[in-house]
Amino acid sequence: MPAKADPFLQRRLLDVARIDQAVAAAEHRRRTLPELAQIADGTATVQKLRGALVLRQAEIGDLDRDARKLDNEIDAVRTRAKRDTDRLAAGSAPAKDLENMQHELTSLARRQSSLEDDALELMERRELADAEVARTEADLTAAQDRLAAAEQRRGDAFADIDDELKRATAERADLLDGMPPDLIKLYEQIRARGRTAAGALNGARCEACRMDLDRSALNDIWAAAPDAVVRCTECGAILIRT
Ligand SMILES: [Zn+2]
Repeated sequence: MPAKADPFLQRRLLDVARIDQAVAAAEHRRRTLPELAQIADGTATVQKLRGALVLRQAEIGDLDRDARKLDNEIDAVRTRAKRDTDRLAAGSAPAKDLENMQHELTSLARRQSSLEDDALELMERRELADAEVARTEADLTAAQDRLAAAEQRRGDAFADIDDELKRATAERADLLDGMPPDLIKLYEQIRARGRTAAGALNGARCEACRMDLDRSALNDIWAAAPDAVVRCTECGAILIRT
C-alpha cells in the first residue's frame, strides 16, 4: 500500500471511481436490456408459429388428396351410371340384365349422393383449414415484425452502450496517465473486490459506502499528512479529503 501520493493525483481517483460506476451500470444495462427477453420470447413464438404453419399446410395437403380421391370415385360412379342409363335407353339387353341395371342405378345414385356429401364436408374442412393457415400466417408475420423491431432496438442500444464504454475507457486511461503505479494498483485491488474503490470524505461520511466513520478513525485521518493515502475503516475505499 502506498503511504503517500500527491493529493491532486489522489483526487483524480474520484473521477476514476465515477467512471467505473458508470461503466458497471452500462454493462449491467447491456446484460439486462428488456429487448433481450423480448427477443428470446419473440424467437420462441416465431418458431412455434412456423411449426404450426407447417402442420396446417400438411393438413391441407391431406384434405386435397382426400378430395381428389373422392372426385375420382364420384367420376367412376357417374361413368358407370351413364353406361347403365345408356344401355337401359337402348333397351336391347335381356330383361334380366335390364332389371339388374335398374337396381344398380338405384344403388349408384345412393353411392353418388353419399360421396358428394363427403366431398362437401371435405370442402368445408378445407375452408376452415385455409382460414387457420391465413390466421397463422398473419400471426407469424406480426411476430416476425415484432422480433425484427426488438432486434433493431437491441442493436441501437448496444451501439450506444458500446460508444459510452469506449469513451469511458479513453477518459479513464487519460486520468490514470501519470498516476503512481502503486496507487493505481491499490485502487484496482479494492475495485477487484467489487467495491467502490475511492470515495470523498464528506464530514464524517465516506461517500464510497455512505457510512460514518467513528471518531478515532476520523482523528487518525485528520492527523495524517495531506499526501498520506488513507482508507475508509468501514469499506476499505481510498478516502479523498476535499
Ligand atoms: Zn467507506
